[in-house]
Amino acid sequence: MKISFYGAAREVTGSCFCVEVGGRRVLIDCGLQQGGHNGFGQAFPFHPGEIDYVVITHAHIDHSGRLPLLVKQGFKGSIYATEPTCKLLDIMLRDSAHIQELEALWSSRKKRRAGDPVIEPLYTMEDALKVFPLLVPCNYNEKVEIDDSVTFAFTDAGHLLGSAYVEMWLTENGKNKKVVFSGDIGTPGHPMIRSPGFIDEADVVVMESTYGDRNHEHSFDTVTELAKIIDNTLAKGGNVVCPSFAIGRTQDLLYHIREIKERGLVSYDPDFLVYLDSPLAKAATKLYSEDLSGYHNEETLALIEAGVQPLDFEGLRIIETSEDSKRLNDDKTPKVIISSSGMCDAGRIRHHLKHNLWRQECAVVFTGFQALGTLGRIIVDGIVSSVSLFGEEIAIRSKIYNFRSMSSHADREELLKWINHFKKKPECVFIIHGEDQTCKNFALRLIEQDFKAIAPKYSSIYDLETFEPFSEGKELQRRSDLDRPERRDSPVFQRLMLAGVRLAEVISRNKGGTNKDLAKFADQIDSLSNKWDR
Ligand SMILES: [Zn+2]
Ligand SMILES: [Zn+2]
Repeated sequence: MKISFYGAAREVTGSCFCVEVGGRRVLIDCGLQQGGHNGFGQAFPFHPGEIDYVVITHAHIDHSGRLPLLVKQGFKGSIYATEPTCKLLDIMLRDSAHIQELEALWSSRKKRRAGDPVIEPLYTMEDALKVFPLLVPCNYNEKVEIDDSVTFAFTDAGHLLGSAYVEMWLTENGKNKKVVFSGDIGTPGHPMIRSPGFIDEADVVVMESTYGDRNHEHSFDTVTELAKIIDNTLAKGGNVVCPSFAIGRTQDLLYHIREIKERGLVSYDPDFLVYLDSPLAKAATKLYSEDLSGYHNEETLALIEAGVQPLDFEGLRIIETSEDSKRLNDDKTPKVIISSSGMCDAGRIRHHLKHNLWRQECAVVFTGFQALGTLGRIIVDGIVSSVSLFGEEIAIRSKIYNFRSMSSHADREELLKWINHFKKKPECVFIIHGEDQTCKNFALRLIEQDFKAIAPKYSSIYDLETFEPFSEGKELQRRSDLDRPERRDSPVFQRLMLAGVRLAEVISRNKGGTNKDLAKFADQIDSLSNKWDR
């Protein structure tokens, strides 16, 4: 019995793990890399034709986005997922294929003009359509026996509609092992969906650690704070722009805004307009509004029973075409714009940022995790005064907010509670789905609590009985937007920029420190800046 780490190893995106047991190969998640590259690109370090089955924890693209590529390159087996995940994949993978085709078309135009060979899309709509007949919808807590070697069950992970932990029972030569894959672990009290559950038993756990190094602000009242920002910004004549993941976070925002309107919390204009500008988000919102009684939380079910549509309200406008999306920027009425992608790497949100970032009366509200190397991360870190959008340098003058409280990931405290819930300590915990340092730090924290914890490297392979590595794997060779060599920047200047990124991260980790320490730290940075500001 072996496990291989083919993605989300010392990084957040590209989840992909392979279990080999009884001559079978089962892939758990098959996600897309996002935010620059880890140096290994989207290619699989295995032959897709040799994979027998796939099990998908949830529909987010970093867990599912390479399924069409897998099928394109020869995978023919079944793909197991919960019913809502199957429905969301249908929307998500079509959209992803469309983006892949468009991006290849754009890049090819430039290449053609330069006399270079054209770019092939990673996969096409045709490839995505071949995924759907392979999907096998499953219920939560239903044991599915794939064959003599593998049985699994999905348990509610409270992270996204249909999201799941995978409990997997493996058998080989009379030996048994239970492996639990956490997928993404949710946080309690999230809109629409139920709170994450716990699991009692496992021999091995493969566990996410996105927020393994920090806690969310639990006292933060999202609805009140969001209402204040909308009220103040609209009163100044500005727009509130919300880059938002089309599936999950957009529906959370709509849920909160409905409540804001119901409670009349925006006094400047209680009937303010909200534009939902993402075809994918529109399709997902429709799905969220369907009868999903096995998946919604009690509060949402009560609303629906009382005749309230949880994601609908007066003043909600859905933008259909990209022409209408662009026209939105000519309309001077202050408004709220929700658009994708959530990390600002692609999609219509980039136009809205171009037209609003430079206006100091506007506000940009981030609601999800921003991976290293994405435009969203560059803006949130606040270390640059302008960004390049569509070949234009755009100054950042609008107010920037980062609503960590809206995260759908468990924070450090909750992750520790989750892993300590197992009745008996698992024999080994593999820490994945966190940035390099976060994975290592979270593994160390578990070791302090007497767990055996490993933060595996990309493409490493471990024995599931001895936990000895067959292959140590490779160090990431990250080439994100921030550390990608720009022709005009010298290597030493790039080093300086990276040092700046690190400083911003260190500052945010010091939040909540004593006044004395924070003042000392600020003095030191000020004196350093005074010295070099010439
Ligand atoms: Zn997720
Ligand atoms: Zn994820």
